[in-house]
Amino acid sequence: MDLSAPIESVKGVGPKTAEVLRRVNLRTIGDLVYCLPRVYENYQTTVKIADLRPGKVVIRGKISDLRLVRTSRKRLTITQGVIRDDTGAIRTLWFNQPYRAKQFDEKREYYFTGTYEFKSGRYQLTSPSAALVQDVEQDSAAGFQPIYSAKSVIKPQTFHKLMDGLRPDFAKIPDLLPLTDGAPKFITKGARAEALYNSHFPESPEDAEKGREYLAYEELFELILAAKLNKQENQRLKSIPLKFEAKFIQAIVQHLPFKLTGAQRRATWEILQDLERGTPMNRLLQGDVGSGKTIVAALAAAQTTRYGYQTALLAPTAILATQHFESLGELFSMLGGALQRQGVSWRMPRIALLTGSTRDKRQLKKLIEQGEIDFVVGTHALLTDDTHFHALAFCIIDEQHRFGVGQRQKLLLKSPENTAPHLLSMTATPIPRSLQLTVFGDLDVSLLNELPPGRQPIVTKILPEVEQRDELYPAMRELLAKGQQIYWICQVIEEKNANTATPVIEQAKKLAKLFPKIKVDMLHGKMKPDEKDAIMTCFAAGKIQILVSTTVVEVGVNVPNANMIVIQDAEGYGLAQLHQLRGRVGRGDQPASCYLLTTGDGKPSRRLREMEKSTDGFHLAEIDLKIRGPGEIYGSQQHGELNLQVANLTDTQLIAQASHHASEFVKHPENLQNYPELATRIKKYQQLTTLN
Ligand code: ADP
Ligand code: MG
Repeated sequence: MDLSAPIESVKGVGPKTAEVLRRVNLRTIGDLVYCLPRVYENYQTTVKIADLRPGKVVIRGKISDLRLVRTSRKRLTITQGVIRDDTGAIRTLWFNQPYRAKQFDEKREYYFTGTYEFKSGRYQLTSPSAALVQDVEQDSAAGFQPIYSAKSVIKPQTFHKLMDGLRPDFAKIPDLLPLTDGAPKFITKGARAEALYNSHFPESPEDAEKGREYLAYEELFELILAAKLNKQENQRLKSIPLKFEAKFIQAIVQHLPFKLTGAQRRATWEILQDLERGTPMNRLLQGDVGSGKTIVAALAAAQTTRYGYQTALLAPTAILATQHFESLGELFSMLGGALQRQGVSWRMPRIALLTGSTRDKRQLKKLIEQGEIDFVVGTHALLTDDTHFHALAFCIIDEQHRFGVGQRQKLLLKSPENTAPHLLSMTATPIPRSLQLTVFGDLDVSLLNELPPGRQPIVTKILPEVEQRDELYPAMRELLAKGQQIYWICQVIEEKNANTATPVIEQAKKLAKLFPKIKVDMLHGKMKPDEKDAIMTCFAAGKIQILVSTTVVEVGVNVPNANMIVIQDAEGYGLAQLHQLRGRVGRGDQPASCYLLTTGDGKPSRRLREMEKSTDGFHLAEIDLKIRGPGEIYGSQQHGELNLQVANLTDTQLIAQASHHASEFVKHPENLQNYPELATRIKKYQQLTTLN
């Protein structure tokens, strides 16, 4: 079977069907064969409606009362209906599947498979898949059926027919994975053909599982191999070697206002070693909020400027860029003076800030191009085509998960011709080990797994909003009396006609009334960058006591005197975001607290309970990965295309096996020529993982 043959060559696919299939990216036979079932229905486990228990269920019955409801919010459509069997009736509904309203024949019986749950005050069957009882019974493998999900563009029966047409050819599907050193035992000749067959035409749940396991392995192997090849390619590029001058760095470290933690020392050492090489560094500095990543980057930048090369630091918001600019400026001038007194020759880096609201951008860009600036801190404004550097050797990307692959790449292209800059990405979003080996496999990682001494754990508390008066306000008063500051985060719903500033303005009014002697101010997305910076500067300087804000303060901002954060409507945020927000406090040596306000009277979600229990970002990330899956976490922004079909990034054993296999394989990268299909398939992953 030629997997690259166009979809029209499948029996039963005419030009019209082909067009429809192409619309959902099914272009070749291979695409079709790899369009794997989402789940398998096990009709042998049908339950009577009267006996239903919450969870995944299969029922058999007739459906009626179908109706389509459009809601105004988010242009959601809901299709409702009622399913009956001889023991009772239940409500069912689908979201955004309007065709469901016309799909059914009310006189015929169907199997419905979905989640039976309690929602909005009653029990319902949510988004069930459906199959005609008659169709299921005609099929030889009755009782155990694959369900294809995304293909709502064509009828399930038609899709099954196409697959059935291909069935005799499955045995001829060629092998894909190399049977080279390090391959696990289940990679044998014909394993791929068998796995695909088992996935589409299983006779038992065990068949399906065996198929899934092989295909998951295949997917992981491709992803990991792509990352490893990227790493090799990166090693073929040239960069400017910056010699590690231990004496110089030691002199700086001696004059820092604090003692570096062990983790900071290790990370700095790793980075400085990388910078010495003639091949570009591609390193991720990973450390929980408040672990002190900035100083590590600053040391490496100091080393870079010592040799007359330029450094660029890219930050996701103007507030954060401004803060970096100011604190780095202060640090360098302090160090400059101290080193001079000690007789160490070092010209202080000339540092500049480039954001959207920078006044004379053209003049500044000219200075950057002429090499009059050593260290540029900026936002996206740095990435424009008219920003040229004189000799850019080192790029730092703060909060790297905030940037897309394309944006990072733009910055890297600004180095002198025929060289690539050294890249240090920083993130507080912990990347679980499984992702480190796969999606981020081409990165080296330095870990700051230690907080600076003296930090006190942040006490976190879930609090129903109705209890604010008795519990929260007194705590706020007490903290304000000590001269400390508070963040108050409001949930803002991005809706078309709603003014996103309203909740912030109203909350600020309310708090100003409650605390008449206290300066309350606000920060929200409707403000101009200048205004935001001004407010943030005032807050950092202690001129504002309570800052009511949207999540714009979420990343990176550092105000060590702010020791309480109140997050309103906390249920509306993801775990990673809550952890980031909480990381705004507890950055000094005072005890800090975080209140998670909830409005409902139900039990708080698992997310909030985990927040209450743990302040360990790594632990929370693992939990998040389990609750939401990697697609969501590393989703739209940087890995929108990372749509693993089969594999599960929590499948650590398979990941370890695939990683070993791929490592052996890339020892001889020229081998790839013998696997042309594999080479083509991993191209897409290579683009995805490159320059993480
Ligand atoms: P993050 O890793 O979240 O970016 P920062 O680099 O902003 O953290 O550092 C947080 C705060 O901790 C800053 O005020 C910084 O000066 C301080 N800091 C960093 N390293 C140390 C250290 N070793 N000892 C004490 N304070 C430190
Ligand atoms: Mg930071």
